[in-house]
Amino acid sequence: MAPVHDNPNQGEPALRQAMLAAARTLSAQGLNRGATGNIGVRCGATFLVTPSGVPAEDLSPESMVAMDYSGAPIGPGKPSSEWRFHRDILAARPEIGAVVHTHARFATSLACLQRELPAFHYMIAVAGGESVRCTPYAIFGSQALSSLALQALQDRKACLLGNHGMIALGVDLADALAVAVEVESLCEQYWTAMQLGQPNILTASHMQAVLEKFKGYGRAQK
Ligand code: 13P
Ligand code: ZN
Repeated sequence: MAPVHDNPNQGEPALRQAMLAAARTLSAQGLNRGATGNIGVRCGATFLVTPSGVPAEDLSPESMVAMDYSGAPIGPGKPSSEWRFHRDILAARPEIGAVVHTHARFATSLACLQRELPAFHYMIAVAGGESVRCTPYAIFGSQALSSLALQALQDRKACLLGNHGMIALGVDLADALAVAVEVESLCEQYWTAMQLGQPNILTASHMQAVLEKFKGYGRAQK
C-alpha cells in the first residue's frame, strides 16, 4: 500500500492558512462562489474541513473544523455538509493529502448532463486515467454521495458529481487545486469543441503513452 501522505512540513496552523488561501483562490478564479464547494486536508491522525455555509471572504484559519475519522468534530465549528466524502476519500486513499470540491461552471454543466469527460485531450491524464468519470445524482452531504464519489475516483484524482459539481484530489492542497483548475479548463475545452462537432477521442494506447510520459514530466526534483 502507498505510504500515508501527511502533508509533510505542514503543521496544523500552516494547513489552516493554506486552506484559507486555497478557498480564496477558488473564489477568485471563479471556480466557487458564495458558500459553494469545500476543502478537506489530512492532518496527522485527524483531518480539517472548511466550515459549512461560510463564503470564502468570511473564512479564517480558526474557522476550519478539525474532525476525527469517526466523523466527530474535535474542535469548535460546524463542519462542511460534505465531511463524509472528505473523510472517506482521505481514509481510503493514503497517497492523497487534500480534497477540493467545486461547483465550477463547465465541470458542473457537464455533470448536469451526467456526461463523463473522455480522452478528447491528452491533459485528461492529470486526473490519472483516460476519463474523468461522473457519478449518478445523490443528495449533497449524504453517505450515498460519498460512496458514489469514492467509486468514480478509483485510480483517479478527479470526478464529476452528477447534477452537482466536481471533486479534485492531490498529494497536497497545491496539487489538488492544480487538478481542479485543469479539470475545469478541460471541461470548458470539451464543451467548446462540442459546439462544432464530436471531438476526436484518443485511444487507450495513446493515453497509456501519455500516462507513462507524465511520470517523468515536470521540473527536476531538488
Ligand atoms: P458546505 O457549505 O456545507 O461545505 O456545502 C457546500 C457544498 O458545495 C455542498 O455540496
Ligand atoms: Zn457541492
